[in-house]
Amino acid sequence: MSREKDTFYLTTPIYYPNDLPHIGHAYTTLAADVLARWRRLSGDNVFFLTGTDEHGQKIAQAAAERGVSPQQLVDDINPRWRDMLTLLRISNDDFIRTTEPRHTARVQQFMQRLYDQGDLYTATYAGPYCVRCEAYYTVEELVDGELCPIHRRPVERLEQENWFFRLSKYSDALLALYDQHPDFVRPQARLNEVRSFVAAGLEDISASRSAFDWGVPVPWESGHVFYVWFDALLNYITAVGYGEDSDEFGRRWPADVQLIGKDILRFHAVYWPAMLIAAGLEVPRQVFAHGFLLVGGEKMGKSNATGIAPEQLVAHFGLDCYRYYFLREISFGQDGTFSWESMTERYTADLANDLGNLANRVLNMVGSYCDARVPAPAGPAGEPEARLAEDHAAAVAGLQAFDRLDFMGGLADLWTFVSGVNRYVEARAPWAQRKAGQIDELHRTLYTCVDALRIIAVLISPVMPNAAEALWAKLGLAEDLWSQRLPQAAAAGQMPVGAITTRGDLLFPRLEDA
Ligand SMILES: [Zn+2]
Repeated sequence: MSREKDTFYLTTPIYYPNDLPHIGHAYTTLAADVLARWRRLSGDNVFFLTGTDEHGQKIAQAAAERGVSPQQLVDDINPRWRDMLTLLRISNDDFIRTTEPRHTARVQQFMQRLYDQGDLYTATYAGPYCVRCEAYYTVEELVDGELCPIHRRPVERLEQENWFFRLSKYSDALLALYDQHPDFVRPQARLNEVRSFVAAGLEDISASRSAFDWGVPVPWESGHVFYVWFDALLNYITAVGYGEDSDEFGRRWPADVQLIGKDILRFHAVYWPAMLIAAGLEVPRQVFAHGFLLVGGEKMGKSNATGIAPEQLVAHFGLDCYRYYFLREISFGQDGTFSWESMTERYTADLANDLGNLANRVLNMVGSYCDARVPAPAGPAGEPEARLAEDHAAAVAGLQAFDRLDFMGGLADLWTFVSGVNRYVEARAPWAQRKAGQIDELHRTLYTCVDALRIIAVLISPVMPNAAEALWAKLGLAEDLWSQRLPQAAAAGQMPVGAITTRGDLLFPRLEDA
């Protein structure tokens, strides 16, 4: 008997390691990280997987150009990907490389099953092929009849005798999946897109290659390796115990959310569930395809020159602004435009002014009026407190939008609370309360503000882990920020009286001129 599912399991695509990590890769990974941290804060047991896709003709060609073995090439460049995760403070629980034996052995086992049950057969196929995509296209799909629709570069004509997967046999099962589980593909527009693709009639797809040998060997025919996409997609199950540890697999599979860019939708929303259905496995609960990041109107490409390295932006804006900006500025699921100017604006308005100044001001007043000790709330709570409580409740409720990957909506509601605390400070005017000798009222005001900062530290922690930790430390809180769980952690009145606060450095200092 295998164990029952008890884990929120989410994945990013595995990345092609010969690319330099750019803000497009970081975007997917970052959204997954925020969701993982949010689910942990909400009390879930989370397993968050990312990794690299290390087989295929592109890697073999790149290695040959450099005069090294493909394994040497992927070993050499793998640290760049790990560095990106460290830079962005990504909290992944595992990192899979498709060249690891834990993966390759289980790919063979999975494919053997499809072979044994007659889902694979050999045939010769010829057609337009993009090496960069590692994919065949039909002539109709090509741009101007000769360019890859993704890369806008000339395709090759490739003729091979390959093993084919009987994809067409699973058309009805796929259509039933889309109809019965419309959340399987999000956003809605992407579901419509795959549904019409499948409804128009599926052709069987090639599952092996024989022109090169850098891949997982086909066990029943020497000289063939599995098509890199079959190999790559299977990482989502080989990493969680498929064919090896039925307890682990039972606890984690199916994945709750698989995050992808919309350019790889067909692989994840058509081929992948068909493979799983063929093998008698559950399909993921959701495949969420986000949009493209545009820079100056152009897609952040795998290979075009607009690639911006995340470290450039982190160096200037800091990690927290980097993480906040992409989720607050762009509706997740739609295309969005990155610009240096809009990032500067978000930094200044939302972070430095709304949040950073608020924390600085409140901590400054607690320091000078209360000897840096959080005062007991005295004096009556009135209209301003009631209004603030409404903003607080709306922020906590609004953040549940993260479960739908609506990061923009969740953050907008959270910032209504941040603005609400600023309005509260203005309405209560603690400097005037002090001047008038209204000490009970002053203590009520400052306690309410510090308590709100504590709640804000908890609620921003999935998005801005550094600022959350810094604010938490300024508040003199002894508990571990990362062991906080909702809803308790975001309830009002949890700030311990007598905690010793420190003002310290600004959370969001003025940006240096770029
Ligand atoms: Zn292409």
